[in-house]
Amino acid sequence: MSREHDDMLRRGIGMTSQRTRERLIQRLYEEGLSNAKVLEVIRRTPRHLFVDEALAHRAYEDTALPIGHNQTISQPYMVARMSELLLEAGPLDKVLEIGTGSGYQTAVLSQLVERVFSVERIKVLQDRAKERLVELNLRNVVFRWGDGWEGWPALAPYNGIIVTAVATDVPQALLDQLAPGGRMVIPVGAGEVQQLLLIIREEHGFSRRVLEAVRFVPLLNGPLA
Ligand code: SAH
Repeated sequence: MSREHDDMLRRGIGMTSQRTRERLIQRLYEEGLSNAKVLEVIRRTPRHLFVDEALAHRAYEDTALPIGHNQTISQPYMVARMSELLLEAGPLDKVLEIGTGSGYQTAVLSQLVERVFSVERIKVLQDRAKERLVELNLRNVVFRWGDGWEGWPALAPYNGIIVTAVATDVPQALLDQLAPGGRMVIPVGAGEVQQLLLIIREEHGFSRRVLEAVRFVPLLNGPLA
């Protein structure tokens, strides 16, 4: 890629123009997303840098896109919705993310909370995500290559946990690592029957809210080189 082209991508000219981005924000707003902070972060986060160049022209469509290894970058609506749910009760300092993928949701979160701890099982995806966040100068994120079913116990508890792959059940380790009053947003189910849950750690036990039908790739087992 030439230097000039590179600069152009960064400034978001052409098919990734400001107008295209504004249309996406408008659409999210019309779909009921109302957290101004979240929308502002989505507006300024260059999603085209998180997909292959060949797909960059589709980066501001409200759709998931392939990122290789049978994985997808999350749909902007879902990124905004999950962020909004996490932040609904106020600011968060420590958030655990399971499923770094392209790093797009990570990048959005890192601009909304104090620190993000992100776990990914596919090493090459993690490496690329890391590079992108450094390039965007988003430095409040630490990455771990590992199995999200186990969370990241050494740094627990977390005030927020977000899982960006669908689990058959809520992983017990993640419940254990949620701080008192902490919030977890997680898709649960299998195949076509998946629902987004909001789980809150109350004084005694957990409350659960079922939010909406969703579509995610599965939360798999074990790290993969
Ligand atoms: N939020 C990401 C979505 C990535 S798709 C983005 O916007 O790009 C889901 C990701 O979860 C994939 O990268 C997949 O490799 C990862 N994943 C699946 N099972 C996992 C597990 N057990 N532990 C950690 N990551 C996992």
